[in-house]
Amino acid sequence: MADSTDEGFMRHAIALAQAGQEAAGGSPIGCVIVLDGRIIGQGHNQTEGDHDPTAHAEVVAMRRAGAAVRNWELRGATLYSTLQPCGMCTMASIWAKIGRIVYGAGRGDVHSMYFEDRHLDTDDFIRDAYRRDIGIEGGVLAADCAKLYYGPGESLPFEEQANI
Ligand SMILES: [Zn+2]
Repeated sequence: MADSTDEGFMRHAIALAQAGQEAAGGSPIGCVIVLDGRIIGQGHNQTEGDHDPTAHAEVVAMRRAGAAVRNWELRGATLYSTLQPCGMCTMASIWAKIGRIVYGAGRGDVHSMYFEDRHLDTDDFIRDAYRRDIGIEGGVLAADCAKLYYGPGESLPFEEQANI
């Protein structure tokens, strides 16, 4: 169950997303990774600025967290993301042994351009994972997070649609 601690870290992720929106080459997705109540990694999406399709907020934060604790395994850590993680970031979370994924806006709250697959998503990957020690929870400050993104029915120019 999400609690006030979760909301606090999600607010921090929202601030990172806003910073990403203002940064050159960034975009408004923020992520915080917390271990034992302490932030060990954080970041925003910087795919454009880094010329790196894997530089999603979650991957940026995981790399920083791994460097901070000098361990690629982040067992017991919670990952907070303003947007439901994509397939790549969900898989990376599984590989990183992250214990819990908490996200704000979900697929239904935003435009489909934020996701690479028409049907498969975070829940499918988590459900099918060999690991059983991983939890996922969505909808924390969902309305605040959704404001950062294009809405479900919005018509977007082709150049804005990151997934096609
Ligand atoms: Zn991602």
